[in-house]
Amino acid sequence: MARKQRTFADKIAKGTGPRGEKCPVCGEVIQSIMVIRPYKTDKGNWRFTNEMARVCKCNSKEALADKPL
Ligand SMILES: [Zn+2]
Repeated sequence: MARKQRTFADKIAKGTGPRGEKCPVCGEVIQSIMVIRPYKTDKGNWRFTNEMARVCKCNSKEALADKPL
């Protein structure tokens, strides 16, 4: 998603902190957080990947849950 990539770039440029964007559904300020997920490589080694997630009340459970890559 282009929107997500732009958010990620913005975060690098501006540093951390809430961006003040509010979810139109729940009205909560949307937080951009770094989620670390483990995944298994083709060789059977475990690695970790960082992923930016945009989290508000609507999706906090899904965003923080373990998802298969
Ligand atoms: Zn929401």
